[in-house]
Amino acid sequence: MKDEDQYVMQDPTKQYPADDFPIQTQPEPGLDSKLDPRADHGEKSYRGTGRLQGRKAVITGADSGIGRAVAIAYAREGADVVITYLPSEETDAQDTMTIMKEAGNNVYGLAGDLTSEDFCKELIGFAAEKMGTIDILVNNAGKQIYIENIEDISTEQLVSTYTVNIFAMFWLSKAVLAHMPAGGAIINTASIQAYQPSPGLLDYASTKAAIVNFTHGLGIQLAPRGIRVNAVAPGPIWTPLQPSYGQPQEKIKTFGQKTPLGRAGQPAECAPAYVFLASQESSYTTAEVIGVTGGQHLT
Ligand code: NAD
Ligand code: MG
Repeated sequence: MKDEDQYVMQDPTKQYPADDFPIQTQPEPGLDSKLDPRADHGEKSYRGTGRLQGRKAVITGADSGIGRAVAIAYAREGADVVITYLPSEETDAQDTMTIMKEAGNNVYGLAGDLTSEDFCKELIGFAAEKMGTIDILVNNAGKQIYIENIEDISTEQLVSTYTVNIFAMFWLSKAVLAHMPAGGAIINTASIQAYQPSPGLLDYASTKAAIVNFTHGLGIQLAPRGIRVNAVAPGPIWTPLQPSYGQPQEKIKTFGQKTPLGRAGQPAECAPAYVFLASQESSYTTAEVIGVTGGQHLT
């Protein structure tokens, strides 16, 4: 292991191991606790500097992966945070909340399925009741199942991928506005897949393209209200999404090695973009997408 402290200047190609990953599979949704090797969410390295002091945030899918790294960063930047996750991810969620609580702010968890519009409304109501206001909404939950041929994508999978990735984002963004003041921020998780679709991820990649489009449109719509809407588009990041049928087995082994930086990214490397987009530092940035892709272009 190299020095993974993000504040230490170093060669990014060597910051994390670029070796093959062990072949592995988990039922969907995977658990961070079963990832081999474990991912880096900035647990040991992220240092807050008060950039989100007093803010109230909701982060979906924050038990593991990118969402966990964002949740840890937001807590250390001074925010109160509600995280959501699926009931089967309770252990990952508890681990995440234990780390967040060390920062000393309020942390709340709510388990539920975002494919239900009622749960999306319940989540926003829960967050508003606990925190009084919602200044930041991070739409991060996502579903990705790799299927080689379009003939084999079931309607059930198609509908559920679209519902988690896009419909829930609509429902949550719609509901949150009643509680979000000017200065608030909505941050969506898109993907390099929005621009460079893998042929085996047709349903997933097309939802990510829709997220980019939704981000541009909603950003323009909400600009006069002083609410900014942006997205982060990650490249290949080592999270439980990938070995829980997000990639075929043979692709797990060399996951991320084809990027210009030559390795998979870690959740900890995504979190600073979400902090920037939530904080007032990005006051003139809206309807925009920031890539964290290891060098793959968002075109
Ligand atoms: P992850 O598995 O750690 O996180 C995804 C989370 O989505 C899960 O933890 C789960 O809580 C949530 N989720 C899934 N279905 C849900 C449902 N029906 N109801 C409620 N929550 C549900 O994986 P991750 O890679 O950190 O994914 C986070 C986001 O990043 C996703 O939107 C994903 O598409 C996106 N992304 C990931 C990569 C990557 O390479 N890992 C690349 C680009 C974009
Ligand atoms: Mg998870």
